[in-house]
Amino acid sequence: MSAKRDYYEVLDISQNASAEEIKKAYRQKARKLHPDVNRDDPQAEEKFKEVSDAYEVLSDPQKRELYDRFGHDAFDPSRNGAGGFGGFGGFDDMGGGFGDIFDIFFGGAGTRRRTGPQRGADREVRLEINFEDAVFGIEKEIEISRMERCEKCKGSGAEPGSEVKTCPTCRGTGQQRTVQNTPFGRFETSRPCSQCRGEGKIIEKACSACKGNGEQRKNRRIDIRIPAGIDSGSRLRVQGEGEQGIRGGPSGDLYITILVRPHASFKREGYNLLCKLPIDFVQAALGTEVEVPLLGGAVHLLHIPEGTQPGDIITVKGKGIPHLHSHRNGDLKVQIEVKIPRKLSRRQREILLQFAEESDEKGGKKGLFEKFKDAMG
Ligand SMILES: [Zn+2]
Ligand SMILES: [Zn+2]
Repeated sequence: MSAKRDYYEVLDISQNASAEEIKKAYRQKARKLHPDVNRDDPQAEEKFKEVSDAYEVLSDPQKRELYDRFGHDAFDPSRNGAGGFGGFGGFDDMGGGFGDIFDIFFGGAGTRRRTGPQRGADREVRLEINFEDAVFGIEKEIEISRMERCEKCKGSGAEPGSEVKTCPTCRGTGQQRTVQNTPFGRFETSRPCSQCRGEGKIIEKACSACKGNGEQRKNRRIDIRIPAGIDSGSRLRVQGEGEQGIRGGPSGDLYITILVRPHASFKREGYNLLCKLPIDFVQAALGTEVEVPLLGGAVHLLHIPEGTQPGDIITVKGKGIPHLHSHRNGDLKVQIEVKIPRKLSRRQREILLQFAEESDEKGGKKGLFEKFKDAMG
């Protein structure tokens, strides 16, 4: 341990560095020096270990204090009797210490990613459906492609008949451990094995179907039930239909974003259905009953009261869209459009003129045009 560099120098920080600065410096160095990133550098592992050691000591206030007082001697068993400074148990007592180091490095559950089961990724797809299907709900079969276990190699990644050997470096554990005995106990660092990249085994000949990945993209049919009343932009979750998990981990989920195609005559506003109904001006004036086609083929006899104005909205209770999570329904709102005839027969014209005279007599001498002229001054 004679040529051991100063830990502050290793991390390139000042003696007064804060815990945050130490963490940041370690993160940067560890990323740069990790053996997986520096496969061509035979010294990478050594350098990485140096940085890890420095972080391990400086990130722990107690150990840092000892280091500041005694330097490397504080951790050198040859200079102090085993357990000389006491205080630390073995690796087990350090609890989350190593987890912390790897969390920083891999960003979360990094170490588990390489060795343990890992949940598959979530998938997201879009599905376009008809307006009616959104209102009434529908069962649909969709096809998605996802990575699944390669059938040829049964997921091993090895060409059938070729050999899969246990990695000699890590003896199949996928982890390389370095044990360091110090006065404070046994320190054990572990990192993914550099020879097998944490897999624990070495494949002689990669499977020709999946190129050694152990999985292939496959099409998969899934039945989904789209609930009545769903709106555009809603997301449905289908559990376990995302990407497959790794090493026995659970599959991710599939999220289906629903896009509803517009309808030629109906629009949606919340749970209400809107439509427009053209009637002629005589119907509007006298009132009438009109058959309104509903979604799904039914017909509703709509009562139009006398004196209905253009733009008036007539509400039909409960004929709208079903609420997603209850048995209630929105309303149908019918907006009245009044058609004015573009051409009149002679007889129609006479009747209308008569009607106009009648109106003038009833409402005063002045016609609408005269009133308008007055208003304009
Ligand atoms: Zn394969
Ligand atoms: Zn290995």
